[in-house]
Amino acid sequence: MAKTIFKQIIDKEIPAQIVYEDDLCVVFHDVHPQAPVHLLVVPKKEIVSFNELTAEDTPLLGHLFAVIQKLAKEFHLDNGYRIVNNCGKDGGQSVAHLHFHLLGGCQL
Ligand code: AMP
Repeated sequence: MAKTIFKQIIDKEIPAQIVYEDDLCVVFHDVHPQAPVHLLVVPKKEIVSFNELTAEDTPLLGHLFAVIQKLAKEFHLDNGYRIVNNCGKDGGQSVAHLHFHLLGGCQL
């Protein structure tokens, strides 16, 4: 199967504005930002959507949320922010690799 665009970013085959990376995830700016701060938090593990998460992914999920909290601080989203996950076709998911949107920097 062809790699998703996010897997290609993880593998450094296409560029992205990466703001954070560790062993488990990569975070980069969304190319079509919906807010002054719009980051995508993407696990390196290839998980198609939120619906494919299993019990073994619980620590990974906790890590992703800890990274979101850390980045919210670094990007000075002191008044709050929104975490979004679009799951599947009806959820409006357009890239079949699990990711969380972190949006903030204005009143949403
Ligand atoms: P979703 O619709 O929840 O699957 O979100 C996919 C997001 O990925 C959209 O907000 C797109 O703007 C964003 N996106 C697509 N391609 C890229 C890319 N190459 N670099 C950064 N963001 C992208």
